[in-house]
Amino acid sequence: MEVINRYVAIKAQIDGVPKESDFELKNQQFSLSIKRGSKEIIIKNLYVSIDPYHVNQMKTTGTLGRTIVPGEVISSYGVGKVIASGNPRFAEGDYVVGNISWGEYSISKGFFLRKLDPMGLPLSYHIGVLGLSGLSAYVGFFDICKPKRGENVFVSAASGSIGNLVGQYAKLLGCYVVGCAGSPEKVELLKEKLGFDEAFNYKEETDLNLALQRYFPNGIDIYFDNVGAEMLEAAISNMNLYGRVAVCGAISEYTDSKKHVKLDMLSIIYRRITIQGFITPDYMNLFPEFVSKTVDYIRAGKIHVLEDVLIGIESVPSAFVGVFHGNNVGKRIVKIADD
Ligand code: NAP
Repeated sequence: MEVINRYVAIKAQIDGVPKESDFELKNQQFSLSIKRGSKEIIIKNLYVSIDPYHVNQMKTTGTLGRTIVPGEVISSYGVGKVIASGNPRFAEGDYVVGNISWGEYSISKGFFLRKLDPMGLPLSYHIGVLGLSGLSAYVGFFDICKPKRGENVFVSAASGSIGNLVGQYAKLLGCYVVGCAGSPEKVELLKEKLGFDEAFNYKEETDLNLALQRYFPNGIDIYFDNVGAEMLEAAISNMNLYGRVAVCGAISEYTDSKKHVKLDMLSIIYRRITIQGFITPDYMNLFPEFVSKTVDYIRAGKIHVLEDVLIGIESVPSAFVGVFHGNNVGKRIVKIADD
């Protein structure tokens, strides 16, 4: 049987801040059956993840990793249901999570895709808090920063998908936690709902260095960096001896080619600071441990799940563009279809 698959594509490479008009909704004839002998899997997409890193793959030049081609299907993390499978790892009716696409249907060879046991939790959780966002927070905080109870932790983009979880993990460990975010409502949420010790609106600060001195009179031990540029420079200026920085993302640099962090190397040397970038899929070995601990926290009501769900494939461009304007609170997801 054939259907029309609607999918979102870029019209041309995007340099700078993405706009909704950079995207188009395309139609393709799509077969819901598997060719004889094929190992492919046909998936009905249910939820797709919206992630800032995609913008780096949409650029003309300088892209690390894959380049997204105008007009072509864009692969994305998501949850779906198997409609047909020639792959022995998957059967019709299975839920799957992993590499699918910004479309209504996906075809997969099974690469970076696994069968999903929802564990009685909403399917969307397996994209955010129990997906790659959650794993990024877990790996960056626990494995890279090696935190100890009582340490001082700073996290940027703290109301975003990863940042809010870093702060919550750090509070559960007994750290002093400060987050920054881009609106008074987000600051209130971090302090009142998520239990951060302090939070501030970085857009209202004229001197980030002074702001961090105010919130960290005893210095920063751990900085979980989601934004790069000036915020990373200010954090380095306020780090303690043997401070650790996990460089998860640099969203403020993604859409501005002139913006680059200028590191104070003497501070890094004399204060023995460790700065480590990481790519989360390298840490899939920690996935079972991360899921087990995080599910326990969720069931015990110790972690608040922050989701920001838009509806329908046609919402993908605005959902994506909005991330670069701080429109999301928590994990941004587009629900494509009912189960
Ligand atoms: P997210 O939920 O999509 O949130 C992004 C937030 O960043 C926005 O809501 C906005 O909040 C803030 N922001 C946007 N533009 C900004 C700017 N110019 N300056 C400062 N803040 C800005 O993001 P996420 O999924 O948590 O991802 C966080 C970071 O981790 C991103 O840089 C992402 O690319 C990176 N990442 C890395 C990996 C990895 O493997 N290393 C994996 C996933 C994600 P405000 O209102 O606070 O401005």
